[in-house]
Amino acid sequence: MKWRPIVTVGVICAAVAGVALWVIHARLVGHWFEVHTGTVNEPGPYYGFWSGFGSDLTEFAIIGTIATGVYQLVKRYNCHYPGCWRVGNHPAAGGQFSLCYLHHPDYQGKKPTQELIQRLHREHLERQAAILARFHELREHLSDKPAGDNGVPGSGAPTAQAAKDGNP
Ligand SMILES: [Zn+2]
Repeated sequence: MKWRPIVTVGVICAAVAGVALWVIHARLVGHWFEVHTGTVNEPGPYYGFWSGFGSDLTEFAIIGTIATGVYQLVKRYNCHYPGCWRVGNHPAAGGQFSLCYLHHPDYQGKKPTQELIQRLHREHLERQAAILARFHELREHLSDKPAGDNGVPGSGAPTAQAAKDGNP
C-alpha cells in the first residue's frame, strides 16, 4: 500500500514541471499573460508584485512546510505545562505528562542536582523493592491458602489450619 506517497510525489513533480514549462515558454501563452506575469513591459503595474512578493511565493510555501513540521515536532516534545516551550523529557504521573525540569514536581523549579538525582534514584529503588516484597508476600499468601484449606472456602478454614499447624 505504498501507492499514496508515489502518487503525491508524482503530482508534485507534474506541478513543478508544469510551472517550469510555463515560465520557460511564457511568451507562447500570450501577450495578456506576459503583461500580467511581468515578463514584458517590466515597469508595468505588476512588475513590483512579481519581482518582489510574488517571487517569494515558492519560498513561502517551503518555509510554511518547514514551519509546520517544526511546530509538530515542538508540539510532540515540548513541556506539557501550559505556555511552556522548553523540551519536556521528564515523565510525570507514570508517563502521562512530559515536563521540563522547571515544571516537574520532583525538581521544584530547579535543575536536578547530584543530591536530588541520588535521592530520587534511592526512593525509586526502595519503592520497587517494596512493590516486589508485597508481590512475593501476596504470592506466598495465595500459594499457602489452597494447601491450608484444601481449596474449600469457608469461615472455619483459618482456625482449622491453625489447629492443624499447632497439632501435627
Ligand atoms: Zn515546562
